[in-house]
Amino acid sequence: MKSRKEVDGIVSWFMKNMPDPGSELQYADPYGLLVAVILSAQCTDKRVNMTTPALLERFPTPQAMAAATAEEVFPYIKSISYPNNKARHLTGMARGLMDKFGGRVPSDPEDLQKLPGVGRKTAHVIASVVFHKEVIAVDTHVFRISRRLGLSKGKTPLAVENDLNRHFPPELRGRAHHWLILHGRYICTARKPKCDACGLSRWCDTFKTRDVS
Ligand code: SF4
Repeated sequence: MKSRKEVDGIVSWFMKNMPDPGSELQYADPYGLLVAVILSAQCTDKRVNMTTPALLERFPTPQAMAAATAEEVFPYIKSISYPNNKARHLTGMARGLMDKFGGRVPSDPEDLQKLPGVGRKTAHVIASVVFHKEVIAVDTHVFRISRRLGLSKGKTPLAVENDLNRHFPPELRGRAHHWLILHGRYICTARKPKCDACGLSRWCDTFKTRDVS
């Protein structure tokens, strides 16, 4: 387990260098972020941000999306990865919102996971970013960086989430999610981590052993 001193060093570095991190997905309301997060699976935020304006102009509310077929949604998201599946997820999610929650996006992560196409990671992003719930969403970046730094040896996203919850107090969890995502996106990238430019190297288990994988 990472020592408290090392975790404190990581937190201090992020607090100084990324005091106010946030989502790079553009959205105007909880429904818009939910749509964007569903589209963002295995796709860049940049591509999602290019796609959502026209999609949400055509389907601006859960009611409008729920009334659509996946075939009607598909042309608006065809440049996104897995458009067929995601078109089904979007219409299913919207119908779930209408049927179960009166057309409003719920704030509880467990309720969010009752919606088609919404797994634990997506539910935690929405709960954290929109509703400021003290939960951490573990996506591919968070998973990779946590393991490289030595914050977790977990082999599943849930195991990593549990370790991160032990390291980060509730009030820091929302920020920690963004810290690790942004660090993974720009510095500790999957194929070629920029260790020489990384401010966290002194606390990084991988850097100490030079075993970047
Ligand atoms: S030192 Fe290298 S492996 Fe460790 S967090 Fe930084 S970029 Fe990633």
